[in-house]
Amino acid sequence: MSFDFDLFVIGGGSGGVRAARVAAAETGARVGLAEESRMGGTCVIRGCVPKKLMVFASEYAEAMREARDYGWDVRIGGFDWPAFRSRLEGELDRLEGIYNRLLEGSGVEVFAQRATLADPHKVRLADGTELTAKHILIATGGWPALPDLPGVEHAITSNEVFHLDALPERLLVVGGGYIACEMACIFNGLGTQVTQYYRGPQILRGFDGEAREHIAGHMIRHGVDIRCNTNVTALRRTAAGIEATDTAGEVRIFDQVLFATGRAPNTAGLGLEGAGVALGARGEVPVDEYNQTAVPSIFAIGDVTDRVQLTPVAIREGMAFVETVFRGNPTPVDHELIPSAVFTQPEYGMVGMSEEAAREAGPIEVYSTAFRPMHKGFIDREDRVLMKLIVCAKTRRVLGVHIVADHAGEMIQLAGIAVKMGATKEDFDRTVAVHPTMSEELVTLKTPVRRTGGDCSGA
Ligand code: FAD
Repeated sequence: MSFDFDLFVIGGGSGGVRAARVAAAETGARVGLAEESRMGGTCVIRGCVPKKLMVFASEYAEAMREARDYGWDVRIGGFDWPAFRSRLEGELDRLEGIYNRLLEGSGVEVFAQRATLADPHKVRLADGTELTAKHILIATGGWPALPDLPGVEHAITSNEVFHLDALPERLLVVGGGYIACEMACIFNGLGTQVTQYYRGPQILRGFDGEAREHIAGHMIRHGVDIRCNTNVTALRRTAAGIEATDTAGEVRIFDQVLFATGRAPNTAGLGLEGAGVALGARGEVPVDEYNQTAVPSIFAIGDVTDRVQLTPVAIREGMAFVETVFRGNPTPVDHELIPSAVFTQPEYGMVGMSEEAAREAGPIEVYSTAFRPMHKGFIDREDRVLMKLIVCAKTRRVLGVHIVADHAGEMIQLAGIAVKMGATKEDFDRTVAVHPTMSEELVTLKTPVRRTGGDCSGA
């Protein structure tokens, strides 16, 4: 049977673009790709990139205050949101252009419209065109999930936050995940009065407990009004702003309410069930370790599979798919020990297990220190950094590294290599410190602060 394409990709985000480009440019496959919105997807248009640029923007006020204490004659004026936003939009246009040119240069045929599945080898475009392909790759990503509550239409999500007409004076962030916490810190840094509601007992659920406490304490000291065990029950637009009622019945007024309460896989109306792919409980596309669905011609990568929702993971899954299907080299994606960062202020970089998860797994030693770094101590700031290693008491392998400090994301990338290689605590100890730095603590932590379980109990 002959097909219009060897591969048709639905979704032009991190995973889809990479898979399409590599399959076309490096294996000579005939590739088509449909993107219904803007090329680049969540990461480039409404995720990592605009967020990180906003993080940079939001750090200047504190940097200028610190500069003053270091002796600089600095006067801090206001933040010009429209000027920043228009520069940001220009940058996103530029990046989108690069993505389009890369696809074009690789010989990928791009369809700027929505695509759905018609059958295991056929996609239907929004204009009614039907195209056949030997393989179909679902890379449609995820979408912010909003709770069902009265007045929720007055709230925004991370999709809209980068394009606000004005910087809100009072912002309510709802949610305790990494996106919610990053947004709270960004707007706090830009001068907005930020309140954050989270329904659980502490923000950043699932991350290391000590790191969570450390970050929450820092955020509160720097002005974010974090209210845990609190949720919104209703929103109402009034002349004074958006009125939010919380679970305790308290009513407060905000200029914007941002919900960052989770993301759902983008599979609604995609035609997967009709093509024979049953969706998972959260609407995700179930795949095996080779990204293949129950229908042999249909594969899925990235956020839509609801495995690890990070850009570099979606990209790796896309590359592994091409290697498996177009180079005949079955390649599973390794989802173990993925380093990642939360761009709160202070930043949090982590790889491997949290202390809580490691305790469940067996006897561990915990090495941890919170200290005032040289840069802050000099100007009498109370801000401390946290450096923490979790070590298996039996094998001596470092099971987890947690860093809460400026540039922790940069540091954890490198620590991640050592952990991935199976480094032991003694390997860390044998490494000479770089002085004076914050990360030198990682190789000079001598005494465990806690020992738990098995061999270590009673020590
Ligand atoms: P996406 O990038 O979401 O791309 C999917 C694309 O498919 C979209 O462009 C969409 O328009 C398109 N599409 C959907 N349905 C159809 C259809 N039927 N037809 C045609 N096109 C369709 N990750 C990190 O690693 N680091 C970070 O710091 C980070 N920060 C983030 C901050 C925010 C605010 C958000 C929301 C996410 C962040 N992420 C971060 C996560 C990261 O953006 C995603 O993991 C990544 O973009 C997933 O890539 P993907 O290819 O699976 O999907």
